[in-house]
Amino acid sequence: MTSTDRAIAAYLGLAIGDALGSTVEFMTPREIVAQYGVHDTLCGGGWLHLKPGHVTDDTTMSLALGDSILRCGRVEALAAAQAFDVWMHAKPVDIGNTVRRNLLQFRKTGNPEAPYSDHDAGNGAAMRVLPVALATLDQPEESVRAASRAQAHVTHHCALSDAACECLIFMVQDALRGADKNHLLHTYAHPLVAQYPEFRFRAVRQSQNPSGYVVDTLQAVFQSFFDTDDMYDCLVDVVNRGGDADTTGAIAGMLAGALYGRGGIPDAWLGALDADTRRACETQAWALSALV
Ligand code: MN
Ligand code: MN
Repeated sequence: MTSTDRAIAAYLGLAIGDALGSTVEFMTPREIVAQYGVHDTLCGGGWLHLKPGHVTDDTTMSLALGDSILRCGRVEALAAAQAFDVWMHAKPVDIGNTVRRNLLQFRKTGNPEAPYSDHDAGNGAAMRVLPVALATLDQPEESVRAASRAQAHVTHHCALSDAACECLIFMVQDALRGADKNHLLHTYAHPLVAQYPEFRFRAVRQSQNPSGYVVDTLQAVFQSFFDTDDMYDCLVDVVNRGGDADTTGAIAGMLAGALYGRGGIPDAWLGALDADTRRACETQAWALSALV
């Protein structure tokens, strides 16, 4: 399997996780069981009343960022901010509070870097890192980190968010090169916890109802990703925890897609994903992979 095949699978996994999770976003695990038993279909609905197979900001902001990277030939903060601004103008189905606040600020100031705030530790930058991971594959570590921060700081200028974004990017990149799950755990997940103990996900309670706080999000994602062996089990496990399920689904789907590849995506999910979204993800993953 080539890294481009895995890149396409990561993008499809992101969109599938978003679509799957959106149905149960903001529900508790107990409410999900009562309404769906085990939720495992791209049936739409949820608080956004989506059509089956449709996606939310996690996927559409990633695609907007990816388009800006393809236009510039590299990750560019101003181009990313402009792409997000155009995206916000088009009235997306959902938008995070921190994203909205800092994009409105960008409209006023033209500065694509939000002011530093420890409070802006939401998952809104981490949910859209995939195009950066693809565009900077095989670049030196410091350039990858700089590219990550350029896109992230448009809306989330915060140390915990940065640490999460960079950890996810390096995990995706090593998975694209064929690394196994154990390597990702020891090389990236454990060091993240060593540096920021908030992210501890072992020997703690199973994360239920993960919030939009990037720490909650990554705890749920890592528990599901490291304790399962295929994309189906990983995504079903994480979205049935409820909470910010479209975003935990999107991030877990990205990791699972990169690790397990195209063949690991359940046919029923691929067939149910909105056709335009599927095409956009495949096309962009291919184009970003060709950039490096
Ligand atoms: Mn969303
Ligand atoms: Mn969400």
